[in-house]
Amino acid sequence: MGAGRSGSTVLNIMLGSHPEIFGAGELQNLGRALANNEYCSCGDKIKDCSFWSKVYSNWIDSTQEVQFNSAMTRIRKVENLKSPLAWIKMLLNYPGQSKVLEEYFKDSYLFFNAITTSMDQKVITDISKNPLRALGLLKNPHLDLRLIHLVRDGRALAWSLFNVHEVNKKLGVEKELKPRPIWRTAAFWLIINWQSNLVRKRSGKVVIMKYEELTKNPEKSLRKLESIIDLDLQPIIRNIQEETPLPIAHVMSGNKLRMSKSIKLRYNDDWRRQMAINDQKKFYNMTRRTMSSFGYSD
Ligand SMILES: [Zn+2]
Repeated sequence: MGAGRSGSTVLNIMLGSHPEIFGAGELQNLGRALANNEYCSCGDKIKDCSFWSKVYSNWIDSTQEVQFNSAMTRIRKVENLKSPLAWIKMLLNYPGQSKVLEEYFKDSYLFFNAITTSMDQKVITDISKNPLRALGLLKNPHLDLRLIHLVRDGRALAWSLFNVHEVNKKLGVEKELKPRPIWRTAAFWLIINWQSNLVRKRSGKVVIMKYEELTKNPEKSLRKLESIIDLDLQPIIRNIQEETPLPIAHVMSGNKLRMSKSIKLRYNDDWRRQMAINDQKKFYNMTRRTMSSFGYSD
């Protein structure tokens, strides 16, 4: 969970290079990706992809096709990040809510089960950023969730959202993005990190991972992650140390990086040189307390 553009696609690819981990991508978009038949990172449309077509048929086997859409609608409603009521319902034992949540837990379980029965690995990586979804998965008695709160200097996000990205479905850019004002990104970054802090405090198996550390000292970040998952991450560390290009298998959603054949890790702080100093200051002044709590200074 986290604000996005914080290295989650890279993290997904890094983790997916471990023989016991499947890097699935941004799974909260799987329903949409299937409905629109979007591109998988293997280059095939998702319904033609050898992996995801199997997931889809497993899913249909367990729920029936007519129920697929209603399950996706239920999941989206419970995980509606922007709805204060959805948060209250998830956080409190809202009257009459237990039945809705029970159904949601079952829907989510069937969703993950369709994937885990199609893959050979033990662990699945989901890089969905939505903290309310993270809370829902955390509360799910049928799932064993380990949580990563991914954080990046918000000024990098503000700068990145200031640049326009045109739609290019083949490159994995599904929606056109318009330049976003600095204050809006600051407000968004604050809210998502407050929500993520709230969820983090409810989980025993959670780490904060910073983009800057992940890209400059991946070993340190991965060792931290080892403390909450029962896996030795040495194979990933070795790949990085030996500068082996990290292969990308079937990542169904995430940024355009996933459409490359392989990637190498690279720290990017272009925003420091390219973003107007006034905009950098404006962002920092709005987010000072939260930024400094994560160790970012002005
Ligand atoms: Zn594929």
